[in-house]
Amino acid sequence: MNEFFETPIEYLKGVGVARATALKKELGIASYGDLLQYFPFKYIDRTRFYKVKEASAEMPYVQIIARLTQKEIIGEKAARRLVAAAQDDTGQIELVWFQGIARVFDNLMVGKAYVFFGKPTFFNNKLQIAHPETELYSANPTKSSGSQALQPAYNSTEKLKKFLLDSKGIQKLVAVLLEQYGRNINENLPDYLLEKHRLIDRAKAFQQIHFPADFGQLKEASKRLKFEELFFLQLKLLKNKIFKTQQFKGNIFGNVGNFFNEFYNHKLPFALTSAQKRTLKEIRFDTQKGVQMNRLLQGDVGSGKTVVALMSILLAIDNGFQACMMAPTEILASQHYQSLKQLLGEGFVEFALLTGSTSKKERRIIHENLESGKLHILVGTHALIEDKVQFKNLGFVVIDEQHRFGVEQRAKLWRKNSIPPHILVMTATPIPRTLAMTLYGDLDVSVIDELPAGRKPIETKHFYESSRLRVFGFMKQEIAKGRQVYVVYPLIKESEKLDLKNLMDGIEVMSREFPLPDYRISIVHGQLAAADKAFEMQRFVKGETQIMVATTVIEVGVNVPNASVMIIENAERFGLSQLHQLRGRVGRGAEQSYCILMSSQKLSKDGRTRLETMVQTNDGFEIAEIDLQLRGPGNIEGKQQSGVLDLKIANLVEDQPILLKARQAVEAIFEEDPQLLLPKNQLLQQHFAEKTQGLSWNKIS
Ligand code: ADP
Ligand code: MG
Repeated sequence: MNEFFETPIEYLKGVGVARATALKKELGIASYGDLLQYFPFKYIDRTRFYKVKEASAEMPYVQIIARLTQKEIIGEKAARRLVAAAQDDTGQIELVWFQGIARVFDNLMVGKAYVFFGKPTFFNNKLQIAHPETELYSANPTKSSGSQALQPAYNSTEKLKKFLLDSKGIQKLVAVLLEQYGRNINENLPDYLLEKHRLIDRAKAFQQIHFPADFGQLKEASKRLKFEELFFLQLKLLKNKIFKTQQFKGNIFGNVGNFFNEFYNHKLPFALTSAQKRTLKEIRFDTQKGVQMNRLLQGDVGSGKTVVALMSILLAIDNGFQACMMAPTEILASQHYQSLKQLLGEGFVEFALLTGSTSKKERRIIHENLESGKLHILVGTHALIEDKVQFKNLGFVVIDEQHRFGVEQRAKLWRKNSIPPHILVMTATPIPRTLAMTLYGDLDVSVIDELPAGRKPIETKHFYESSRLRVFGFMKQEIAKGRQVYVVYPLIKESEKLDLKNLMDGIEVMSREFPLPDYRISIVHGQLAAADKAFEMQRFVKGETQIMVATTVIEVGVNVPNASVMIIENAERFGLSQLHQLRGRVGRGAEQSYCILMSSQKLSKDGRTRLETMVQTNDGFEIAEIDLQLRGPGNIEGKQQSGVLDLKIANLVEDQPILLKARQAVEAIFEEDPQLLLPKNQLLQQHFAEKTQGLSWNKIS
């Protein structure tokens, strides 16, 4: 079966070496399977006919019934062409051919009615179609337009068109393939699944997805193929998870010892939320099973993930292990380091910070202390995974903002101990459930869905430039109460110069409006040296300045509970999740906090939706869902490195119901038959083995 799918495309009738090479290079179509899964991007409704007068140049194609009134070959050499005219009761249309002139000329019969189909253009005010598809008209209109009521349209490229592989050309290849070998498409889903989910069989689905007789058939086919795609994706992810469970022993954290208890009873400055407690319990449970943990910890900004991570780390230390905490940026890493310092104090647990800017001398000491086991916790950036960094006994790894790390980097951490460490992945960017299921389908998921008590929800307002003075007034009022204010400007690569100018102008206005000595402003942007940045940040953190004007460098990591106002300039230029991240910088203390979105009057539809969403909700998960709808899953960070989102037909936004069904189906199957040994699951086992040939699971974390 798979052999058929993997048959090189040049074996197909009509595909020689040249076309095969072009197909491979341009569209990645190298085999029969690739061609079958090169799905039409749309279908042209050939049941609809237009009058000549209805046609406009904006239409991608038009189908017209008209009577041929004349035909003529004109011009010389390269300009030689066949020009014909046809008429319906509303007007005249001109038809032009530059190729195959003689043959077309002979076939066209003046006086007969035809169905012409093609891209309309206007030439000297006259409707024209070049190289129309042409068919004699017969009284039954659907029949007259050929067997295909819904004509598939395939994406092609200029290069391929040179090989006559435009949409129509590709269609022909698919037709040949299906006609000659369609019966070789074997079923890969067992009957009981087909019945339960009312799915048509596979061969039929491929036939109907390319050549549906009507929309009903198209729907059936796409439902079947989407289910199949999502089903095998989930099968792979869950199989991987089961495999790891069987394959990898995990360290057992049997003791709750002094470190944990001392911290919990004497150092923890607040009561844990019940969501934090639940998450901790889940981690406790995982780390006592003797199986390596791979857990994703999701929680909105400020939900208190760090404490949960820290307490898990203390458990590891209680059991004689070391831990590390990895963050994607230096700022975030040092923020974590500061949090640990605050929470742990000195002389309790040994911890250190390792980043790109750690000096050689410090590095050497860190390396030594890690290897001797003196150092309990290492916080840092990518610097952590360098081979030089050797632990005595690494037992627990926390990865913050995982979506910025590659799978390979995760794997490197695994290899830092003979028994791989437990891994807790934290993300502050809530991921819609379905996406998490696909991106992290092989991880267990904990969600902190509750903010610490006493937090007042952040109030978000949207203002136009015209309200600038009111906003300044509001800032003064809050500063007078002793609060601090962030003012954030976008800094986006393409127009860095312009953005910087924006920022500078903004700073100037701000300095005039908030003059010394009453007001002090910190300024942080990408052009500053790291030391200057840190210095300015510190001034703000210590409360020496009341306003922090910054570019998005403050997006992650800054934690200043006294800062209660976030003003986002040109807010329409930020993505939704970024806006939400920024807003999360305030609302960290007990005071009422505010987020003010400044925008120009002119807003795109999406831009307006983003700002309205921000005003309406503080719920990161709801925001993530809307973000997914607006941007499509393709633009969600992290997709590139996961590889698993390379879907051919399913769409994670539109096909959530199918995804959920597929996931449930896979879960039920593994529940009953984890090794896929039952006769009824034979097909799955077989298909799965073929699909994953040569893939070794232990390479994938
Ligand atoms: P996250 O990493 O999820 O964004 P943090 O762990 O940085 O959140 O916590 C945000 C702030 O809330 C920190 O100042 C932290 O000390 C505080 N915090 C965490 N848990 C609680 C709690 N249960 N009660 C009160 N404050 C908490
Ligand atoms: Mg955090």
